[in-house]
Amino acid sequence: MNTNLEKTLTAACKKDLGSCTTEELYHGLLTLTQDMARQKESNEGKKKLYYISAEFLIGKLLSNNLINLGIYDQVKEILATHGKELSQVEEIEPEPSLGNGGLGRLAACFLDSIATLGLNGDGIGLNYHFGLFKQVFKDNLQQETPNPWIQQPSWLEKTDVTYQIPFQGFTLTSRLYDIAVTGYENRTNRLHLFDVESIDESLVGPDSIDFDKTNIPANLTLFLYPDDSDENGRLLRIYQQYFMVSNGARLILDEAKAKGSNLYDLADYVVIQINDTHPTMIIPELIRLLMEEGLKMDEAISVVSKICAYTNHTILAEALEKWPVSYLEKCVPQLVPIIEVLDDKIRRRFSDESVAIIDRNDTVHMAHIDLHYGFAVNGVAALHTEILKNTELHNFYTIYPEKFSNKTNGITFRRWLLHCNPRLADFISSLIGEDYKKDASALKKLWDYADQEQVLEKLLEIKDENKKELSAYLKSTQNLDIDPSSIFDIQIKRLHEYKRQQLNALYLIHTYLQIKKGILPPAPITAIFGAKAAPAYVIAKDIIHLILCLQQLTASDPEVSPWLRVVMVENYNVTLAEKLIPACDISEQISLASKEASGTGNMKFMLNGAVTLGTEDGANVEIHELVGDDNIFIFGDTSDIVIKRYADHSYHSADYYQADPDLKEAVDFMVGETMMKIGSKEHLERLYHELLNKDWFMTFPDFKAYVAVKNQAFAQWLDRKAWAKKMLKNISEAGYFSSDRTIKEYNRDIWKLS
Ligand SMILES: *Cc1c(COP(=O)(O)O)cnc(C)c1O
Repeated sequence: MNTNLEKTLTAACKKDLGSCTTEELYHGLLTLTQDMARQKESNEGKKKLYYISAEFLIGKLLSNNLINLGIYDQVKEILATHGKELSQVEEIEPEPSLGNGGLGRLAACFLDSIATLGLNGDGIGLNYHFGLFKQVFKDNLQQETPNPWIQQPSWLEKTDVTYQIPFQGFTLTSRLYDIAVTGYENRTNRLHLFDVESIDESLVGPDSIDFDKTNIPANLTLFLYPDDSDENGRLLRIYQQYFMVSNGARLILDEAKAKGSNLYDLADYVVIQINDTHPTMIIPELIRLLMEEGLKMDEAISVVSKICAYTNHTILAEALEKWPVSYLEKCVPQLVPIIEVLDDKIRRRFSDESVAIIDRNDTVHMAHIDLHYGFAVNGVAALHTEILKNTELHNFYTIYPEKFSNKTNGITFRRWLLHCNPRLADFISSLIGEDYKKDASALKKLWDYADQEQVLEKLLEIKDENKKELSAYLKSTQNLDIDPSSIFDIQIKRLHEYKRQQLNALYLIHTYLQIKKGILPPAPITAIFGAKAAPAYVIAKDIIHLILCLQQLTASDPEVSPWLRVVMVENYNVTLAEKLIPACDISEQISLASKEASGTGNMKFMLNGAVTLGTEDGANVEIHELVGDDNIFIFGDTSDIVIKRYADHSYHSADYYQADPDLKEAVDFMVGETMMKIGSKEHLERLYHELLNKDWFMTFPDFKAYVAVKNQAFAQWLDRKAWAKKMLKNISEAGYFSSDRTIKEYNRDIWKLS
């Protein structure tokens, strides 16, 4: 055992480890980790990447840092000799609430890979005090409360960097906080989080996320994505975005100047990856700051156009940000003349109104700024990039074909395998050695074991252990009862109609009704959901209500509960994902084809030996190609059909409802007597009418195929050996989805860091 490490840890805890409380151990380990991270050298290369993003869904940091510093096992052992358990210390760390979903988690995985590959790259974002929100369930409904996470000591390190950020009528003083990003057995980078010095947490009570949206100096960094259903909320988002990009731009220019840039040569020092459109204002802001430094406008535009690259994450129209010029005038008038010039230059070159930056209604299309004034644009999975080129951004692709490329998303295997599933990681190491930890393609070697009975049995055993562990955890933390010997069928992701939790719910109603008729499923099923709905997204909250009602229904009916249980975990976040994913048998990835840009949950599940049940959407398409037809369950209409249906307005949900008695029965059940006894008439009827009269994300056409393929999957699960082989195939092909691979591609094609 490492006595030096023990001494250092004891010093950090300031007393004998055996007499420390769990909190004291956590604080000691935090200090130790931060010290060790500080001692790592960082890459001082000339050119640096700045990954700017409204979200960084980083998850808890302690265990991941210990793994990446290479001391996890030693620390665990040291604590054990003093009668302490590292897992208990991990439990008390609060999860930073700096993100919402996949886009933010992607940014976090990328930071891990950038550091692991030793690249010179930092993140830039905001230090939200209360995050998105903390979800609590009451009366089968979602309620939102603040999610405070910053305690002392914290991973945030206060720096001396502050800036004066100008807004219309006032100026705010910013402060930079840093979080160390330790690469796996490599360098340490930084996540730069800007905060406002005048923040006032007391603006928010403990039970609600309402606050005075007009008090910008006090509220600016309280919440991620504050409710934008009224004008004050939308203005607040602009204030936040500008605050993020103006701070980021100043930091970037300061660092480049310190390294000797004369600003005309900025592209030799800087590349900026703009994660979705939230940070788009960095383009006009950099132009503005460069002009303050003495560059002429055309020079500034030319410099900035060489350093900004844009990642598109969605084709959902409502998510492509548009801001009225009048809003920008109210918050950041200094950007308006610049954006007008940017628009004017485009209008002189192209008569096509659809590529303009400011449209006829005086609305600024943020993505269009990125597309014209960035040097690269990428989609996040092969299908998504094709849809961008052929449909959504076709007019831009025609102008700038050379700017477009695909970068299929990835996940860091350090968190999503080594940390969350040590049983599986150790078993893999025992078979193929440790190479896969740094070179994920080595996982392919696992397929050599496809016919070894003991290997397949061990995989099943590990899955069973993980299911037991999850069951115990959900019982002790959320008082949920689930049977570890049942099939774990899991759908965890943000609640959105395009992700179609409602389709899963309709299946569950159908199966409930079958059981009531005496037709039993092949094996007992536990359907697990986890999802937050945006606070103002009414139908999404109705879907949560439906699922929670089904939870109550299946739990309380003794005829049904031995065969079917529905559970929804509260406050789905990274920490819960880390527990749920290793325990999953069937990974639900059932978005409407063409709508899920990539998905990364699908990759985490695959890596942990779950079999995907999904549509040909996002990265599911690539998973399907890798594992082959026998090791995935694919169903539903293709993206071509879906895109055509939208184009010719030919979809009418009621036609499907009338034509399929099973579907009609399930839909009617939502508002029937049984459900009315459990749930709220208002919520269930609204959802019922939405589906019958609109069903914008086309759940009904896929219902029949979904029921069929799901029953097939459950039946096949019973053949344990054949199933274990599917698991092995999925794990052995998951290497492609390492974010190390993704980052190498970004660097090769876009960043070109040395
Ligand atoms: C990976 C992850 C996501 C993204 O899941 P998708 O299924 O790809 O939408 C969202 N939230 C958390 C907490 C995650 O870990």
